[in-house]
Amino acid sequence: MTAAPDGLPPLAALDNARLDWRHDASGEAAPHSPAFDDVYFSRHDGRAETEHVFIAGNRLAERLGAWQAPRAFVIGETGFGTGLNMLCAWACFDAHAAPGARLHLVSTEKFPLDREDLARALASWPDLAERSERLVAQWPEPVAGVHRLWLDERVTLDLHFGDTAERLALLDGRVDAWFLDGFAPAKNPEMWHPALFQAMAARSRPGATFATFTCAGVVKRGLAAAGFTWHKAPGFGRKREMLCGEITEPPIDDRRRRTPWFTPPLPRPPRHVAVIGAGIAGASAAAALARRGIAVTLVDRHARTEFGTTHLQGALYVKLAADTNRQSRTYLAGLLHSRRWLAWLDPQQALWRACGVLQLAMNAKEQARQARFLANHSLPESVVRGLDAETASACAGIEIETPALDYPNAAWVKPVELCVRLAETPGIAFHRGEVTALRRQAIGWTLEMADGETLEADQVIVAGAAETATFPQTASLPLQPVRGQLSQLELPSGSPRLNRVVCAGGYAPPAADGILNFGATFGPGDTDADPRDADHDANVKEIERGLPHFVAALRDAGADLAPERLTALVGVRAASPDKSPYCGPVPDADAWRQAYAVLAKDATRIPETPGPHHPGLWVSTAHGSRGLASAPLCAELLASRICDEPLPLEQPLADHLHPGRRVIRDLIRAASGTVPNGRQHRQQRASE
Ligand code: SAM
Repeated sequence: MTAAPDGLPPLAALDNARLDWRHDASGEAAPHSPAFDDVYFSRHDGRAETEHVFIAGNRLAERLGAWQAPRAFVIGETGFGTGLNMLCAWACFDAHAAPGARLHLVSTEKFPLDREDLARALASWPDLAERSERLVAQWPEPVAGVHRLWLDERVTLDLHFGDTAERLALLDGRVDAWFLDGFAPAKNPEMWHPALFQAMAARSRPGATFATFTCAGVVKRGLAAAGFTWHKAPGFGRKREMLCGEITEPPIDDRRRRTPWFTPPLPRPPRHVAVIGAGIAGASAAAALARRGIAVTLVDRHARTEFGTTHLQGALYVKLAADTNRQSRTYLAGLLHSRRWLAWLDPQQALWRACGVLQLAMNAKEQARQARFLANHSLPESVVRGLDAETASACAGIEIETPALDYPNAAWVKPVELCVRLAETPGIAFHRGEVTALRRQAIGWTLEMADGETLEADQVIVAGAAETATFPQTASLPLQPVRGQLSQLELPSGSPRLNRVVCAGGYAPPAADGILNFGATFGPGDTDADPRDADHDANVKEIERGLPHFVAALRDAGADLAPERLTALVGVRAASPDKSPYCGPVPDADAWRQAYAVLAKDATRIPETPGPHHPGLWVSTAHGSRGLASAPLCAELLASRICDEPLPLEQPLADHLHPGRRVIRDLIRAASGTVPNGRQHRQQRASE
């Protein structure tokens, strides 16, 4: 498969599996793949086969029962199919694991079932009905990439959609037990390739086991060449034999040779974490940690509840680049993640509404950009599609004069109420106060507060938007404050209604509680929190430009858009120079400049030294005005890294968010004048 311009597999829709339903020996209809001419499972004894081959073959009951480690037990699977194996593993975990244990499932799938087929296939197992329902409810769009699902409070599933070997090569995480599934090697020779076994070995923990139904020579040879030992075991039913085995010494992950600076710090799962900043970045990080059983102190100088009812609605949407790049992929992953996360967190939609978002193409340049985006990406129409002005008008419920990109599943969100809800997660203690300094101790950190008090924590996450860089340890992060003023109008009765969030220069969501939000202004470098009439005027001008018919109808209904009739909400957001968030461990920037000084002379001479970090110090910031799309994914990314779990994002995309990326980029930039052009391109890619 040819890679996209950013070196990753194409950002595209996957083909859903086409199933037919064949009657098996018991006369019952079981899912069958005409493309591979093989069955997913036998309805008669599929469940027993899974228990025999994968669960018993990996000694899961015994191992899960004995699991005491502070991290989650990780199961990796090739070929998710109907999910039967993973649901059985979850049931085994519930039956045997201690109350504090956690399970993390990672499974690849190149041809995902569609939701209806998935539900139909799983209906064969009534005693798995509740688990199946949760899986079906969160079933992701068929888009290549990582999709995280929260099966219950202790069990997480990461679906890596795409080719198994390709996806495992991008996985940042290691596995304790493998379910080596997939259609039979004779029917699916492309999957059972040496690259698959090598990728499995490289993503294994020492002592990781595997089990598979097949004893084919290609499998035995491939596993042995990759470093696994194997033995035959009695097979299930009519199959005489199957294979089990393990890998005691997995190979060292050599992907970091080109980017040693991004090597993560050694994991030390903490008992207590302080999170500074209770906005969407901090509150979602606190909730992600609390869900993993970690005590969290969430610190903010403001209590969220003090805002009262703000009627603030934010737009959950992203602006994707016409040509695929890592930033755009990360934002799309964030959008899909937030959408699933909101539905899981608040299925009643009290805090958000899945109304869809239209991004208008307001001029010829933007129309050409949107056309190029659509030509370059074959994403499912349920994710993003192009609309002409007429169809866009029908979707919005108001006349629109330009074509648009439509994100039918994007949403508006009440961010203040969402943060309050997240901060109420059991395990989070809210502490009102201002942190003035962070002091590293032999173990953990002391937070010095403005009132002279101190707080202690094992680790600290700083999520204070532009203020994140006020501590000496974080001062190297280039962050720009960006003032934004939003205008609110109380709608007179008889006002027209938008059905979708409409984004042009600013955004306007469908009114909630009779209040229309529109704006916001964009004031880089400006931190003034006072409302301005001039900003109201700018917001009115902008909404008139994008939605002239809507504004005319509002005026006809008696709305007055004079500044004195509008309410202002002012916020100061934070942006990085490259407009991607910072999420990850905080680099010791001076130590990086020393360790990698040679890059400034010759960027091809990459030292082996891993990047030195401030131990146990993390950031999530620079979410700009897209925090609803990026912050919840960053929260999972941080919590996964801190808890030594597989990441919910491909390794190159997690690197793209690394807070140290600018240090390396600046060093390489210094060198770029001194090297020939051809090499310069490669060097810049190394810092991505
Ligand atoms: N584990 C599944 C279950 O519990 O239902 C059954 C797996 S089914 C027999 C095989 C699965 O492997 C199919 O869903 C198929 O689409 C998937 N598959 C086949 N080739 C693949 C590849 N190269 N990469 C990823 N998935 C693949």
